[in-house]
Order: sequence, then C-alpha cells, then structure tokens
Amino acid sequence: MEAITRDFFLFLSKNHLLNNIAKKRGGSFAAGKIIGGTDFKSSIKFIRQLNDSGLSVTVDHLGEFVDSEAVTRERTAECIETIEMISREKLDSQVSLKMTSLGLDIDRKLVIENMTKILDTAERHGVMVTIDMEDEVRCQATLDIFKEFKAKYSCISTVLQAYLYRTERDLSDLADYQPFLRLVKGAYKESPEVAFPEKKDVDENYKKLIEQSLLNGNYTAIASHDDQIIEYTKMLAKKHHIPNSQFEFQMLYGMRSKTQLDLVKQGYKMRVYVPYGLDWYGYFMRRLAERPSNIAFAFKGMVKS
Ligand SMILES: Cc1cc2nc3c(=O)[nH]c(=O)nc-3n(C[C@H](O)[C@H](O)[C@H](O)COP(=O)(O)OP(=O)(O)OC[C@H]3O[C@@H](n4cnc5c(N)ncnc54)[C@H](O)[C@@H]3O)c2cc1C
Repeated sequence: MEAITRDFFLFLSKNHLLNNIAKKRGGSFAAGKIIGGTDFKSSIKFIRQLNDSGLSVTVDHLGEFVDSEAVTRERTAECIETIEMISREKLDSQVSLKMTSLGLDIDRKLVIENMTKILDTAERHGVMVTIDMEDEVRCQATLDIFKEFKAKYSCISTVLQAYLYRTERDLSDLADYQPFLRLVKGAYKESPEVAFPEKKDVDENYKKLIEQSLLNGNYTAIASHDDQIIEYTKMLAKKHHIPNSQFEFQMLYGMRSKTQLDLVKQGYKMRVYVPYGLDWYGYFMRRLAERPSNIAFAFKGMVKS
C-alpha cells in the first residue's frame, strides 16, 4: 500500500497540467509551511523567523532539469542576487542548488561558466554553496564538477546519498579534498542495479558513511528526519569525542519543527532547508511520496489558505 501511494505521488509530481495550475495559483498555501515563498524576497521573513529561533538555513530555488541555456543564465543571475541579499540582510543562510538547473544536461562548459560566476560571488560574501545530488546517472558528473571547484574555492560543499552502492567509494575518493559534506538517504527512484532496494540496508549504509565521514575529519551535515539516525550520530560523536562544531543536523522546512528546536536547545547546530520558487508543486508531491502522513498537514494548509 505504501509503495502504491509513493508511486502515485511520484506520478503526480510529473503532471504538467497540475504543475501549471499550481504555478498560476501561486504558492500562497505552501508559503511559510513547506516553502519560503514563490521568490527569495518573500522568503526572507520566514528565514529571519528561523534564524531568530536559533536555526541556520540553506535556501534552494526550486526547479531542475532545465533544458534552455537562457534559463540557466537567468538561474545564475538569480542565485547571485540571492547570495548578495543574504549578505546584505545579514541572514544566517547558505545556498543549495542543482547542477541540472545550471545546464548539466545541456553542456558541461555552460555549468562551469555559471558556477564560476556564482562561486566568485559566494566567496566574496562568505556564503557556502552546496551542490545537491540528483539521480544516479548524474552522480559522477556532479562529483567531478565539485572536485574541480573544490580545488579553487572554499565555499563549496556537496551531497552523498546512502542508498547508492558507489557512495562508500566516493566518500573515500573525496578524503583528500577535506570536503564539507551533506549525507542523505537519497530521494530519487533508482534501480537495484545501483541502489540498495531495502530501507534497512540504506539505513545501515547511512550509519557507516556518517562514521567514515566524521572519523575522516570532514565537516558533516546529517540531513535526516529519522530519530534513529540522529541518535546514532549523537552516540558516535560522544564515543569518538567529535566536537559539535564538526557536524550539524539538517531537515526540510516544515518537517519536524519541534525536533529542530529541541536539537538547538541540546546544543547542536541545526540547518533548515528552505525551498522557494514557482516550481513548488513537484517538490511538494515528492515530499508526500516520502511520507504520505504529510497529506493531512497539506489539506489543513489548503483549507486555511
Ligand atoms: C536538508 C536536506 C537536504 C536534502 N538534499 C538531498 C539531495 O541533495 N539529494 C537527495 O537525493 N536527497 C536529498 N534529501 C532527501 C533525502 O535523501 C531523503 O529522501 C529524505 O530526507 C527522507 O529521508 P529521512 O532520512 O528524512 O528519513 P525517512 O527514511 O524518510 O524516514 C525515517 C523515519 O523518520 C521519521 N520521520 C521522517 N519524516 C518525518 C516527519 N516529517 N515527521 C515525523 N517523523 C518523520 C519517521 O520515524 C520515519 O519512519 C535531503 C533531505 C534533507 C533533509
């Protein structure tokens, strides 16, 4: 049943008609609940609220798999403006972005050009930029781009996914780069040829990667809503005397808000991933696919809006 519901929401997430309706309707019902707003400016008040309660933020302009060069350039200009606004408004926020939004599916040179402009600005303002990890077919290209930039810029980090068989090796390969890494379970539908099909194996691999990354000395973000993973990380840090300054927890905006604040009270760094933009519909459906119990929360939001 759970698998059917998941597939149903993943199917809906790709529905163009519903996506267009959602864009026209605007994100009023989702704003301040699961996204910041439909643009960065309208998200600032929510980011400030989070910052005021001790939570750090990373923002993500929704929209991936861009197939127009002009749109990638617009995305780049918008990202630069966002970094400048973060700095001007003195927000405690980083930026997350996807390589397909900067042209990974069009031309590698285009991504390098766009990323160089973004990272020049980010470095100037001291704002960290994290390259989100997309599906497995784009994993190698994404890691190659990360390595190329990591050699020149300090304000860059990326993501590794515990569901992929290859990740343990990727983490070892990155050891010399002293990377800032976000570790996640993985959000895409992958085949058993490349990813663990069973949740329990993903969870086990996730724990192994957290240990490997922390013992390697990497600054590590553990991005999960899973209590079991959070408790494991705390236990590991205690056991190996890893200071709280070497890791942080991350969760999505609107998910487990009380737990986020509890972690801050316990002295941990907690970063909230705040997406914004007109393309909120697909993001929302993917969150419902992950956790159908979010449906009740979603409908409550719709009725109120
Ligand atoms: C900050 C952030 C950034 C991410 N970036 C990427 C990325 O770049 N690439 C990528 O592929 N994926 C990314 N993801 C998504 C990630 O890969 C997972 O798909 C997603 O986080 C769900 O896995 P989970 O570890 O949270 O726990 P799950 O395995 O989904 O859930 C495990 C348990 O956690 C608890 N739980 C989960 N959600 C809730 C909730 N809302 N309320 C209460 N309890 C809950 C429940 O007990 C549940 O059984 C990111 C996730 C986060 C949080």
